[in-house]
Amino acid sequence: MAIQAIPRHLFVDTALENRAYEDTALPIGSGQTISQPYTVAAQTELLEVARGDKVLEIGTGSGYQAAILSHMGADVYSVERHEKLYHKAKQILNELGYRPNLKLGDGTMGWSAYAPYDGIVVTAGAPVVPDDLIDQLNVGGRLVVPVGSQKSQVMVRITRVSEESYEEEHLQHFKFVPLIGEKGWD
Ligand code: SAH
Repeated sequence: MAIQAIPRHLFVDTALENRAYEDTALPIGSGQTISQPYTVAAQTELLEVARGDKVLEIGTGSGYQAAILSHMGADVYSVERHEKLYHKAKQILNELGYRPNLKLGDGTMGWSAYAPYDGIVVTAGAPVVPDDLIDQLNVGGRLVVPVGSQKSQVMVRITRVSEESYEEEHLQHFKFVPLIGEKGWD
């Protein structure tokens, strides 16, 4: 399983390395966190990634989720709004031999240049499902996004069943850092 293959301690501060294998979220700087392994596993499972799938992640953060998706053979695109995190993630991912396509900026409008995607995962909590992300789904594609208040979100999965129709599922509750941007929180 990808979670066992990726050394999580490399994605957290050296001061927290000894806690990297606890099932908890940990700070990664810029007021952000690396998601709890349980949460990464849950989102990854809901994405139903197959080798060669084109997957867009909003919220690169430490780069850990991007490493997992790359390890699973996905063609990964990931957007991060914090410059420091963007550079740090790029460096560690390259050191591990992964070359996902990373972008610095607001991901709430997706990354239209490479759309459509077979999977889109938002790793920050959104006030509503960002509509551009739905538009950037391939037929058969899955969008996994936590939606709710800044305190608690429900995991929403939207599957594009055909050109015109979507299926929406509401799953477990989680607590993510906020998705900040044009189609997110202020
Ligand atoms: N997937 C990350 C989780 C990081 S936490 C990991 O594996 O470590 C969520 C990240 O989303 C934070 O780094 C935060 O800065 C970023 N984020 C929040 N709003 C964003 C936006 N509009 N566009 C891109 N990134 C955003």
